[in-house]
Amino acid sequence: MAVKERKFVKANSGDTVKTVKAAEPKASYTKEARHERATGKRIAAIIFWVLAIACEVCFFLTLNKTIFVKNYQLYVQIGLLVLDLIFVIVGSQFWKRANDVDPASDQNSLKFFLQNQMGLIVSILAFVPIVIVLLTNKDLDKKTKKILVPVAAVALILAGALSIDWNPISEEEYNATAQALQGEQVYYTPFGKSYHLDPDCRALKNSSNIYVGTIEEALEAGRHDPCDFCVEQ
Ligand SMILES: [Zn+2]
Repeated sequence: MAVKERKFVKANSGDTVKTVKAAEPKASYTKEARHERATGKRIAAIIFWVLAIACEVCFFLTLNKTIFVKNYQLYVQIGLLVLDLIFVIVGSQFWKRANDVDPASDQNSLKFFLQNQMGLIVSILAFVPIVIVLLTNKDLDKKTKKILVPVAAVALILAGALSIDWNPISEEEYNATAQALQGEQVYYTPFGKSYHLDPDCRALKNSSNIYVGTIEEALEAGRHDPCDFCVEQ
């Protein structure tokens, strides 16, 4: 079997590297620096979520016909639901990346849940009221209801599923992992969830692009699962 050609890319610069050298010392990964980086992402998340709620408000305004586009009302309503969905999902991705950079402490499990699952909460806020109002609105004609209820329900499920952080890391886990692997070169791929210590790990052999970096870079990229094959648990 032919050996797949693989490219190693430095995670911090994007340069292709031929030889793999020891990891560079971490510079900007103090708690404060990470918190600062995460703040930008959190602000972006909040902006998108506010836009999502604005779409939801506009949707309600179409229901009572404050917003009324003759002949195209249904399209406007579907368009608002789709925009609402896109804004929720984009916001949630920024929020999840912020939590990778600056994770919540697991000392307080309620706070840990709220910080990690804020995207799910926003999804519920953005779509559950719409579903409830559509189901209970007596003025709405049957045809419109028949179309909008499933669209809103599917949007709710999609938004929720893509906003949940299925595998959040805690500040404690972050610190323990960063400390245990300090100075190590780690490897990860554009789509994988794991970090690897062995560049020839069998889980990496089919990846054509492999990022090389420090453990902090891997964790910041959301790769916080230790590889089952090459990282000792
Ligand atoms: Zn591995």
